[in-house]
Amino acid sequence: MFTEHVSDTRISVIVPCFNESEVIDTFHSALTAVLEQTTERYEICYVDDGSSDGTLEKLRRLAACAPQVRYTSFSRNFGKEAAMFAGMRMSLGAAVILMDADLQHPPGLLPRMLELHRHGYDQVIAQRDRTGEGALRTAASRTYYRLVHHFMDVALVDGAGDFRLLSRRAVDALLLLPENNRFSKGLFCWIGFDTVSFTYQNAPRAGGRSKWGGRRLLEYGIDGLLSFNSRPLRLAIHAGLSLFLSAVAYALWIAVSAVLNGVDTPGYATLVAVIVALSGIQLATLGVVGEYVGRIYHESKRRPHYLVRETDDTFHDAPGSLPVTVAATRSG
Ligand code: UDP
Ligand code: MG
Repeated sequence: MFTEHVSDTRISVIVPCFNESEVIDTFHSALTAVLEQTTERYEICYVDDGSSDGTLEKLRRLAACAPQVRYTSFSRNFGKEAAMFAGMRMSLGAAVILMDADLQHPPGLLPRMLELHRHGYDQVIAQRDRTGEGALRTAASRTYYRLVHHFMDVALVDGAGDFRLLSRRAVDALLLLPENNRFSKGLFCWIGFDTVSFTYQNAPRAGGRSKWGGRRLLEYGIDGLLSFNSRPLRLAIHAGLSLFLSAVAYALWIAVSAVLNGVDTPGYATLVAVIVALSGIQLATLGVVGEYVGRIYHESKRRPHYLVRETDDTFHDAPGSLPVTVAATRSG
């Protein structure tokens, strides 16, 4: 249907940018230097995620200078997940590469990724190690991944983030997933297809600041745990059942000892402890249930993933349009 476009532009590079004006020019020259060396044709899709530091002006200028560069700018900050989604909608290439604007994803790895793609892989993951990262953050991430490993139905890998190459069919599969709450790491695993990964050494940011503080990471972690299964709910049932059983056993024990030793009533402290523990568990369970209800509420509104302020993307300009519309525009 839109194969003629796909063969026009072989490689699409998607770059979400949020307040990256400090590094964007350096990044762009590093990226184009690598892309020019590869013989295939390419396009770069920048998505400005509501930056307030002049990133948009820089993107406009980059797009004006080169026909291979396109950009879309959001009306506000919608988050990296939304930005990547928008970029995937913009992309026309047969191979689509997602990368960060801060040069933490070295453009020098692209040829290797493309080589692996040519061997038939649908997903090529460049997996970073944790060189140069704070000990606390490393430890927290490690624990998180171990936890996630137990609780989630999809297998997440530490260090395998968003720096990856996707084939056209993998991108089309991702575009078919309509959920508003997009936890990409999980979605990438969920779609499956032939996947290969290699490790590279982590590098610090080339400039600017990371947008992922402790709190945002924590929220992201909870998102990840909850968006891929209902196991926390199952856990609540298990906790409830085992508490019930231990209460029954305790009651029996009290009854038996009352028969054997007669009745005396100490145990005020025990009683308080039990009540507090039980209310805690009940509240936590309610919280878990509430979190899922909140998600249902959020999804049921069916709002678009993002709103576009401006774009030079002439292929598809309907913000929030469904992938079907995108495909139709492409073929038209
Ligand atoms: N980013 C974005 N929207 C956001 C936060 C980040 O588009 O709300 C982009 C950011 O510009 C960068 C990439 O996502 O290109 C990764 O962000 P960052 O480097 O801050 O994350 P870290 O590498 O620290 O995990
Ligand atoms: Mg970064």
